[in-house]
Amino acid sequence: MPNLNRRKFLQSTGSAFALGSTVLGFPHIAGAAKKRVVVIGGGVGGSIAAKYIAKGDSSIEVTIVEAKPSHHTCFMSNEVIGGDRDISTIEFGYDKFASHGIKVVQDKATAVDPVAHKVTTAGGVTLEYDRLVMSPGIALKWETIEGYDEAAAEIMPHAWLAGQQTALLRKQLESMDDGGLVVLAPPGNPFRCPPGPYERAAQIAHYFKHHKPKSKILILDAKDKFSKQGLFMQGYKKVYGDMIEWVAGADTGGGVTSVDPKAMKVSTDFDEHKVAVANIIPPQKAAQIAHDADLTDDSGWCPVDLGTFESKRHKDIHVIGDAGIITGMPKSGFAAGTEAKVVASAVVSMLQEKESGVNSYANACYSIIAPDYGISVVAVYKLAADRSKIEKMSGGLTPADATPEALKREVQYAYSWFKNMTAEMFG
Ligand SMILES: Cc1cc2nc3c(=O)[nH]c(=O)nc-3n(C[C@H](O)[C@H](O)[C@H](O)COP(=O)(O)OP(=O)(O)OC[C@H]3O[C@@H](n4cnc5c(N)ncnc54)[C@H](O)[C@@H]3O)c2cc1C
Repeated sequence: MPNLNRRKFLQSTGSAFALGSTVLGFPHIAGAAKKRVVVIGGGVGGSIAAKYIAKGDSSIEVTIVEAKPSHHTCFMSNEVIGGDRDISTIEFGYDKFASHGIKVVQDKATAVDPVAHKVTTAGGVTLEYDRLVMSPGIALKWETIEGYDEAAAEIMPHAWLAGQQTALLRKQLESMDDGGLVVLAPPGNPFRCPPGPYERAAQIAHYFKHHKPKSKILILDAKDKFSKQGLFMQGYKKVYGDMIEWVAGADTGGGVTSVDPKAMKVSTDFDEHKVAVANIIPPQKAAQIAHDADLTDDSGWCPVDLGTFESKRHKDIHVIGDAGIITGMPKSGFAAGTEAKVVASAVVSMLQEKESGVNSYANACYSIIAPDYGISVVAVYKLAADRSKIEKMSGGLTPADATPEALKREVQYAYSWFKNMTAEMFG
């Protein structure tokens, strides 16, 4: 039975729900033996996994532990940075979870005991589980770029975890003079949202085109190629002329190597740039709790079985989303949502001691280059027979000769996807 501190539970779920539901909806708190699933992380993977486990078997007690009181989605945060969207439209709360029979503990998970099957939190709550699902997302690897630490990120934002950092980058763009240089530094692979930096460059250019047309965006890449590259380069040229310049890893010497936030300078092995705004996106690894729980390998990410997402390091713990090594699929929100449904099906089957079915996987990734110019990549996948990867079965990209109407429609598809996705997560 979970040793869920009652005060914390009341705090986290809101007293109206708690009064109604602890007494009426959750008699198991008083002692009945139920299967218990704890989910760490109420972002894309965690929120959808919790919902589908609760839907899949309402007798399972599902508790989600989320560190923040509300979630800012990374998707559409580039539109906030570009100025076309208010940050309030990407912020979502957890008030509907109770109606799905899911308990929300708003607290930071600080330790996992894989032997005793227990999660503990900063606030002193201990939760026991039969199966644990973790979707804690990413952490940034500070100091892999010389001078780039948490303090530097307050001057040269990464904006790769949405919220305060998104607002900061937006504010800096608004404050800078026309004619200034923005450097955007994408990391090497693997990282969260492969097309994200390139959509961001377009969104910043969209703002500049209408408000600061003499300004420039320089992408100093660590890589020699990137997702949807041909379509992005074509879109940059068509919509923004020469405003965006992309420099490949071969010509940057592998990307930005150091920053000097005081002097507002950004350096590669070959040159130094004085910038008005720097958007430094550092290399990444699985979120800290995944390391503390001993779920990561030398790569900094979590090895898992690709059919069930059960950890290869500790049994009865599943890792999904960006923190996992999901060979064959990108670290995207769409992918995390797919993985969430697969893990829900696996967890429910395992707890019911039934065979798990055969799952399929999908990804679609929209990028908004301008309000009437979207591009996308989609793919469907299946698990390889030897379970070594998730294999692409079919897929496609926006055609290079797509009509203006088709490009406009892609933006509408992106908005529709965002609406559906956030409804699945928080509705
Ligand atoms: C600029 C940008 C644009 C993007 N655009 C798209 C897009 O258009 N389409 C798309 O598919 N993907 C997009 N992505 C990628 C997408 O946001 C991520 O792939 C997705 O969020 C991964 O889901 P996740 O569940 O792994 O992590 P997250 O969604 O980050 O969720 C992790 C959650 O875990 C919580 N957490 C972490 N540690 C703890 C702890 N110890 N205790 C409790 N809670 C904890 C965090 O607070 C967070 O809420 C974008 C990303 C960026 C940066």
